[in-house]
Amino acid sequence: MDREGILIIVSGFSGAGKGTIMKELTARCEQYALSVSATTRQPRPGEVEGREYFFRTREQFEQMIANDELIEYACYVNNYYGTPRTYVEEQLAKGRDVILEIEIQGARKVKKQYPNAVLLFVMTKDIPTLMERLTGRGTESPEVIAERLRRAAAEAEGIEEYDYLIVNDDLKVCVEQVHAIIESEHEKVVHNREKIARIRAELEELVKGE
Ligand code: ADP
Ligand code: 5GP
Repeated sequence: MDREGILIIVSGFSGAGKGTIMKELTARCEQYALSVSATTRQPRPGEVEGREYFFRTREQFEQMIANDELIEYACYVNNYYGTPRTYVEEQLAKGRDVILEIEIQGARKVKKQYPNAVLLFVMTKDIPTLMERLTGRGTESPEVIAERLRRAAAEAEGIEEYDYLIVNDDLKVCVEQVHAIIESEHEKVVHNREKIARIRAELEELVKGE
């Protein structure tokens, strides 16, 4: 691809629809590469090893940390979650836009390493909708849902650290909105250093030949 890849960090309340939006986005456009995280949590029904997550034991995960195989990792509701480094670096080098769907502690750590990353925070239009989606998904026990809602309250404190607020009401509209944001990020000067250097060099040649 002829342009620089952008690192996109997507966080938001559990059940807000992050996974759903990202699946739509990656299916829509070749430019997106969705990073698959490693986790120690149990697979949900229908989740496939290497597609939703790399499911690992606690020992295996701790070994990945020790080997420096993760860009970041965090503990979320009693499980480890982390971003494998190699995939992210390879895809960015190819000019693809890499999406990390991670929680806020991880988002902060990645932003330190990749200051030009764009941070999106996904929420529902209101809390009853969030509750409906979280319970409607039917994948967690009431205790885990309660814990995830507590976590949502804590994460809400950090929203100002993000660049964009994404309200996932109509899925199609929301996916279009996210795509448009990323497209306009590509126009930023920081993501066009090479193009600028090329134009400058061409201009200099021209002036010299006059
Ligand atoms: P997250 O990844 O943020 O935890 P999910 O993508 O698993 O959330 O979505 C939670 C539930 O809400 C799923 O059952 C999903 O099908 C549903 N959902 C997601 N987006 C929408 C939407 N725009 N309208 C209605 N339901 C949605
Ligand atoms: P879930 O169990 O619902 O799939 O994910 C729980 C939370 O962990 C979500 O907020 C999700 O964004 C986050 N998460 C998933 N993968 C990673 C990761 O690699 N690193 C971090 N820090 N958080 C992650």
